[in-house]
Amino acid sequence: MHIRKSNKLSNICYEIRGPVLKEAMRMEEEGQRILKLNIGNPAPFGFEAPDEILVDVIRNLPTAQGYCESKGLYPARKAVMQKYQALGVKSSDVNYIWMGNGVSELIVMAMQALLNDGDEILIPAPDYPLWTAAATLSGGYVRHYHCDEGAGWQPDLQDIRAKISNKTKAIVIINPNNPTGAVYEKAILEGIIDIASEHNLLIFSDEIYDKILYDGATHIPTSTLTEGRAPCITFGGLSKVYRTAGFRSGWMIVTGDRSGIKDYIEGLDILSSMRLCANVPAQHAVQTALGGYQSINELIEPGGRLYEQRQVAWEALDAIPGVHCHKPQGALYLFPRLDSKMYQIKDDMDFILRFLQEEKVLIVQGTGFNWPTPDHVRFVFLPHVEQLVPAMERFTAFLDRLRK
Ligand code: PLP
Repeated sequence: MHIRKSNKLSNICYEIRGPVLKEAMRMEEEGQRILKLNIGNPAPFGFEAPDEILVDVIRNLPTAQGYCESKGLYPARKAVMQKYQALGVKSSDVNYIWMGNGVSELIVMAMQALLNDGDEILIPAPDYPLWTAAATLSGGYVRHYHCDEGAGWQPDLQDIRAKISNKTKAIVIINPNNPTGAVYEKAILEGIIDIASEHNLLIFSDEIYDKILYDGATHIPTSTLTEGRAPCITFGGLSKVYRTAGFRSGWMIVTGDRSGIKDYIEGLDILSSMRLCANVPAQHAVQTALGGYQSINELIEPGGRLYEQRQVAWEALDAIPGVHCHKPQGALYLFPRLDSKMYQIKDDMDFILRFLQEEKVLIVQGTGFNWPTPDHVRFVFLPHVEQLVPAMERFTAFLDRLRK
């Protein structure tokens, strides 16, 4: 028997967990120790969830055995509603909130509900690649808009305009951004919203890193700027800010002018009821997580673990000849550029594979984030400084050898 995967999957890739990870796992099976800087998963690096979240889940386990309503537990959705109301988003309404098994599930649902074959969607380059994969799987045609490294990786509004056609249905914003760490300026967000309003585009705003900010950067939720204007669908969750990626808990909220998207919202309801509901025990964490004291703040201020790790990793990278790294203002990643004349990388997957095999550190190639040229890589700065420093020394040594 020879069963092939469906044609739908022929253009789908998710390189963060791609072939190079398989090689890392093979090496581990041989007994080699690999430092994995490829996935933004805080818990394995010793970032623990706030205690009160764990207590909530444990206390509620006995009553969390059944399915819940497809949209999610009412107290969890109400907490999400209040989070956005507190930000000034008056259209935040509990009836337009869906809880999901992580933002990942909701991204796939949002794309499946929207796209017909050949419909176009604007997604940033570089991107968090699930967006491109989910849109493509849903039959959409992704037009990647350019984010400008020279301008701190802010989206290029001119490029967005140039890539709109009469088939474009939506635009995706990832802010704070994975992989670049950019936090978008108000004028840029306003510019995107103006374009979206002009062309009747739905706005998807992935804000899963909304509270992971450095050096006084301010995150402006897109939904605060779209009130009374374009409909905006915001994604958030517990994985990063509350360090519980394994709980698989996230939300999606539709705000702004919903009058023109009733049918689409019905589509979201159909898909959310088809998967019955999201993980119920984890939804009990949401109300406690979103209300009150935000323990993430201790990690991102000077002296905090994330702040210090970002600093150490960024300084080390930026000191390597021919490596330039925009200092991330948010999220958990560094996305350095390797000078193409100095390093002449033809295939960046091959490049990170060699780095893995020679130095036993796993990172992800820039093209895995739909960046068009093989001249960037992504590092996760979650490990302790004691692990990050040797990892950066190994990268430095690897590049030293390449330059010779
Ligand atoms: N969106 C972005 C920008 C991410 O970086 C990630 C995970 O890395 C996700 C969504 C998925 O998050 P979740 O764990 O909620 O599925």
